Amino acid sequence: MNLSERIVSACGKCVADCSDQELYEGLMALVQEEAQKRESAAGRKKVYYISAEFLIGKLLSNNLINLGWYDEVRKILAAAGKDICAVEELEPEPSLGNGGLGRLAACFLDSMATLGLNGDGIGLNYHLGLFKQEFEDELQKAEPNPWIGKKSWLIRRDNAYPVSFGKLTVTAHLYDIAVTGYENRTNLLHLFDLDTVDEGIVKNGIDFDKTDIRKNLTLFLYPDDSDEDGRKLRIYQQYFMVSAGAQYILDECVSRGSSLHDLQDYAVIQINDTHPSMVIPELIRLLTERGISFDEAVEIVSKTCAYTNHTILAEALEKWPIASLKEVVPQLVPIIEILDDRVRRKFQDESVAIIDGKDLVHMAHMDIHYGFSVNGVAYLHTEILKKSELKNFYRLYPEKFNNKTNGITFRRWLMHCNHALADCITAVIGDGWRKDAMELEKLADRADDKLLERLLAIKQENKAALAAYLKETQNVEIDENSIFDIQIKRLHEYKRQQMNALYVIHKYLEIKKGKKPLRPITVIFGAKAAPAYVIAKDIIHLILCLQKLVNGDPQVSPWLKVVMVENYNVSKAEKLIPACDISEQISLASKEASGTGNMKFMLNGAVTLGTMDGANVEIAELVGKENIYIFGESSETVISHYEKADYVSRKYYEKDPDIREAVDFIVGRELMAIGHKENLERLYKELLNKDWFMTLLDYRTYADAREQAYKDYENRTAWAKKMLVNISRAGYFSSDRTIEEYNRDIWKCLS
Ligand SMILES: *Cc1c(COP(=O)(O)O)cnc(C)c1O
Repeated sequence: MNLSERIVSACGKCVADCSDQELYEGLMALVQEEAQKRESAAGRKKVYYISAEFLIGKLLSNNLINLGWYDEVRKILAAAGKDICAVEELEPEPSLGNGGLGRLAACFLDSMATLGLNGDGIGLNYHLGLFKQEFEDELQKAEPNPWIGKKSWLIRRDNAYPVSFGKLTVTAHLYDIAVTGYENRTNLLHLFDLDTVDEGIVKNGIDFDKTDIRKNLTLFLYPDDSDEDGRKLRIYQQYFMVSAGAQYILDECVSRGSSLHDLQDYAVIQINDTHPSMVIPELIRLLTERGISFDEAVEIVSKTCAYTNHTILAEALEKWPIASLKEVVPQLVPIIEILDDRVRRKFQDESVAIIDGKDLVHMAHMDIHYGFSVNGVAYLHTEILKKSELKNFYRLYPEKFNNKTNGITFRRWLMHCNHALADCITAVIGDGWRKDAMELEKLADRADDKLLERLLAIKQENKAALAAYLKETQNVEIDENSIFDIQIKRLHEYKRQQMNALYVIHKYLEIKKGKKPLRPITVIFGAKAAPAYVIAKDIIHLILCLQKLVNGDPQVSPWLKVVMVENYNVSKAEKLIPACDISEQISLASKEASGTGNMKFMLNGAVTLGTMDGANVEIAELVGKENIYIFGESSETVISHYEKADYVSRKYYEKDPDIREAVDFIVGRELMAIGHKENLERLYKELLNKDWFMTLLDYRTYADAREQAYKDYENRTAWAKKMLVNISRAGYFSSDRTIEEYNRDIWKCLS
């Protein structure tokens, strides 16, 4: 059968007679059938990438691209009067991740399959995802985000594993999602779930009984941990994931010929941040249950597990109270105590202990002692780990530390989200870049007027498409000829959306005073705030109030618009990124481990306005200072401010009239008339009295750099050259490169 016949067969009728929903389901079934035919041929050693999050995004079009079918399917549908984009729109976005860390895991699965590496993902099947964000009364409202319909990408398997907690035993069931590689084999994402979970217990937003484990275990990713029950639920989830995962791994390795004594020849387990860290004691426990001595089990596990660190924010490094572990996972506690005891005897250094003086278990410390590799996710981040955050560990185990700068899959973040640019690149340098991203460098030699004009035209089309989308979905009108200045990422004070908002206030006031910009500006935000993170929600409130004020002011709105995109997720990112002119990457230096949004924007021809933080450092090095706008204090200066505790935000407020005016505006008459006093005052006081992430420290240089970028934008040819340099230098940030490095240095699997 040819593809056209296979589609008709999968849909059960001819394409012209199908509804878009029927086409979606038929194509899904067809993709699954084909993906299964291509399932990975086993090499001996296999990677298990274990992660609490896999932010995979919609799957249909990505799979069609990877199977090499996209263009043909589009044409077959079009010939029958159907639009593939309308079919894509029907797919609910799986909501199995939170931000960059989860999106990274998804990009890595794509690259492993593309490179033909034998490597599966292991995670949880959250029924209601993180949460769906809605705006009401200029506030964030959190709602459940169900994504599993009657027909979904999940394939239920027969595998079932008992998982015992202190007070109950449950059964983990396995679901798989096929991960197609680009013109290569298929790997699997294994997601564990519990049959007794009951979505009906959720009411009134995302509230539910946090103690009813049988009914709540896989409802939500990252349930609110601001209380004791919430923290325990996270431990339940983590143990459920690692216990089922470890049983799966051991069974599979045995079936593939492992004696368990040689487990490290069959499996390498990559621990994505500390959420899966309990896999270490759990594997030791399971191995001893299967007849291996404790000492040998520790040996085996230490040769099998590798740890990726994603943050230096102290509050994000998980520490669980031993008392909670005793209640939820009592069988692990004696094992963790022995592991701690061995570390204490060997090193006699409290700072590297696993269980601290307050009876907290430091999950990262366990990973570092009992894993064979510790990696950071960008050059600067790894250096900070070695020199400061983890320096006492680096002294003990210098050979374990290595850097793996993050990457993104170019299938989703260029070929899928920006067809016009992908086709343009192919027309100029051929198709080789699709398999070898470094070939994008060939573009640099082809920077003639024709190509530059084409780049500007594509950007313009993408901006028009985004404008139409925002009009349709949020009923806001934006000017296609304005500068699209975009900051989309989780809401966190260290990412400093508040600094961007202060600039917006400044611009608003300038325009009010009659000083118009050279060209209209559209400032776009997208961000979810953790429901328990009060100040983050206050920042969203500020942005929504500004949106109302600015867009509703007839004097200002022709020159400045503010748009806060609702429910920022992968699908929204795919629409926003190709339309971006200026990419805001303005975290406080030293705080953003890598960032991957920065890479997606660069690849799509946006120019970065950013600090020397995370992978921005590598971007700056690759594109050169002519093609990026860098501002702000260095990571060394920032770290020294923290060490000396000598940063005083009020000093900057008093010194700089622009800062004072913008900060005061938060609690001024205009915004108070729109927003809530409580939220605005709390944010104002936070900035003035604390400002832990040093917004005011960098505000001046930020505003100046932004003005410069706006000015440079007016020389369209010069700007197009910057765009071209960014695109042509983005090859390094392909996750194929990252995965090749993981495999070369850590996993050592043969493909
Ligand atoms: C890439 C991506 C992120 C990560 O963005 P950063 O700017 O690196 O924090 C978060 N969410 C979504 C939906 C993404 O696609």
